Amino acid sequence: MTCQYMATIGSSLLRSSITIRALSPFNPLIRPTSIRQFQSTFQLPLHQCARRAMSRVRATHDEEAAARASATEADSGAPTIFDKIISKEIPSNIVYEDEKVLAFRDINPQAPVHVLVIPKLRDGLTELGKAEPRHEDILGHLLYASKIVAEKEGIVDGFRVVINSGASACQSVYHLHLHVLGGRQMKWPPG
Ligand code: AMP
Repeated sequence: MTCQYMATIGSSLLRSSITIRALSPFNPLIRPTSIRQFQSTFQLPLHQCARRAMSRVRATHDEEAAARASATEADSGAPTIFDKIISKEIPSNIVYEDEKVLAFRDINPQAPVHVLVIPKLRDGLTELGKAEPRHEDILGHLLYASKIVAEKEGIVDGFRVVINSGASACQSVYHLHLHVLGGRQMKWPPG
């Protein structure tokens, strides 16, 4: 069982823990049922399950704090890390490229295949929530490019495309990007 798989399961268990906020003697954010679910899923001793569950809560809080911090600069027009990738100032592992879009492997993959598809020209598309009628063509092109990526990566029979838009969706880079994920069984609902 991969770490990514565990993280996905842990994430969904713990997000429900945060919402419900009922009640472990060790940590008010962790429900005993969540820890037991961890234990039955991963066949680990109880104390290890509690530790994993609590560290996942910390990680979730870190992601949310980082996302909120990034959002404060979202509309500043400042270049993002993706501008440097487009200009080849910093290296990336490119999977597909045409005149309008660039697709490269995510540096922190959440699945065996995890590719980001971005417009080469940001044109105000810091996030999907900022899309305007003039963006219709590029939005369609990004989706079609995602399908080409899925074909190239051998996952076209089953893959997921994710767009995080805004701080409450944990967007961290304010240059629109589509996550193309596959190569393992996806779960629903997402975290
Ligand atoms: P999001 O959280 O939806 O804004 O996604 C941003 C994604 O960009 C994350 O999955 C990061 O792992 C990824 N990322 C950040 N920096 C790089 C980089 N230099 N090369 C590839 N992926 C990156």
